[in-house]
Amino acid sequence: MIAAVAGLLIGSFLTVVTERVPAGESIVAPGSRCGACGLRLGPLDLVPVFSWLVLRGKCRRCRTNIGIEPLVLELGTASLFVAMTLRFEATLQAAAFCVLAAGLLALSWIDLHIKRLPREISYTTLAIGAPLLVIAALVDDEPRRIWTMALGAVLATAFMWALHVASRGGMGDGDVRLSPLLGAYLGWLGLAFVPVGLFLAFFFGSVVGVGAMVVGRAGRKTAIPFGPFLALGTIVAVFVGRAIIDRVWPSV
Ligand SMILES: [Zn+2]
Repeated sequence: MIAAVAGLLIGSFLTVVTERVPAGESIVAPGSRCGACGLRLGPLDLVPVFSWLVLRGKCRRCRTNIGIEPLVLELGTASLFVAMTLRFEATLQAAAFCVLAAGLLALSWIDLHIKRLPREISYTTLAIGAPLLVIAALVDDEPRRIWTMALGAVLATAFMWALHVASRGGMGDGDVRLSPLLGAYLGWLGLAFVPVGLFLAFFFGSVVGVGAMVVGRAGRKTAIPFGPFLALGTIVAVFVGRAIIDRVWPSV
């Protein structure tokens, strides 16, 4: 319940982040306004989901359509937060992985819209998440996780950087900057999670890429943003990585 409410609130905050960070604007001030008529939004306009439903996705004054996207982002964040608290019973671990979920959602959202992965978000998410993971490892008396976390970040970054160089920029530098975050979290779960997460990202990416070519929406040269697939591969690895590792590599 707490996770769902926190997810809705953070999701609402993420809609602000996804709009303002790419534009280089402050995420704190000024307060939110209607994009069409400039109406300053009051507290009642900003209640997640509830305001959207009451106003039917329109501005209170000018009736301009806000679209369904804020609602999707709020509900998506809430769902992931709830899923994380089910996956991790320890509060601190769940909180750390909610930070990851929020960061990845914002990054995927922006990448899908404008094909960018702002480094501010990648680094901020890591700067908030990594200390939580370190504390969680210490609280659980599993200091080994701190080392696998650091190593995971290095390995994932080195791998993605090598791809970036080998593909002459086909793999974007935003994807490389996102890798320490993914590597740290997956490494914290266990080093074997790092290759599993990356493999899933490439697997999902190739399935969708081939699908897009088949239906003719993308040519060989069309850039498909890879950030959402890195995010998806990571999240799926968090939930089913253990099961995959047990099958292909039982001794780890
Ligand atoms: Zn308006």
